Amino acid sequence: MGDESRTDRIVASPARKAIGYGVRAVHVVAAAKGAKISRKDALLKKFRSARPWYVLRARKLWLGVAGNDPLLSQVWIGDLKTFSSVGYALTRQAGVRDLWKSGFNAWTNSSRLVLVNGQPVPPKDQRGLDDRLRITLLHEAVHVGQFEDTRDQPPKTYREMVGYEAKAYAETKKALDQLEPQGTDLAKTNQAEILDFFTGLDKPPGNGKLPDSYFVDELTARGLLPNSANPKDPASLYVRSVRMEPP
Ligand SMILES: [Zn+2]
Repeated sequence: MGDESRTDRIVASPARKAIGYGVRAVHVVAAAKGAKISRKDALLKKFRSARPWYVLRARKLWLGVAGNDPLLSQVWIGDLKTFSSVGYALTRQAGVRDLWKSGFNAWTNSSRLVLVNGQPVPPKDQRGLDDRLRITLLHEAVHVGQFEDTRDQPPKTYREMVGYEAKAYAETKKALDQLEPQGTDLAKTNQAEILDFFTGLDKPPGNGKLPDSYFVDELTARGLLPNSANPKDPASLYVRSVRMEPP
């Protein structure tokens, strides 16, 4: 996560039944017939119907990433920017508001939803763009599996978050190594930069018994966290109090 290229993800909140957060959502209030549509319903509708060019492209590429995998095949691809603004409107969490501004290529907090980010206008290098997007989606696919394993529970600490990232970036590196040498400058530059930011983060110096604040400091110094992230609570990055269900 972090600069304009960061691919990322993360988590949700523990008590998903109690608090409800993230993606799976809430159907509130079944409006009575003819009743005025609630503000929340209108916002959720806005989220579900947003499909800028990079979302459409990612949906197409996701078919290749998911293949026949039953878990990945049911994942819905949405727009991070809209998720971020709608999530903020519903929860007033600054960490959620700033998610898309952190420039992650993609992000997830669920085993059922991946959110992608992009510029309003596609860059000219279509092939590089597809390579970058595909590598990003491969990374997110690892997180989708992690969320499945934890039943959509988010990491409780930044240290745990870094562990998840180390696994996902291993997949990024593998995909990067397999890229053909030509025509992939955009993807390579972009992803190599991210790897560079991330390298070694999961292998702290010393005996490894560092306080959790070490990871927060490192993530922050490397530009991997939104400015508004709460250093004490990774869950501040997740949409709580409301769930946004894929259509
Ligand atoms: Zn990640």
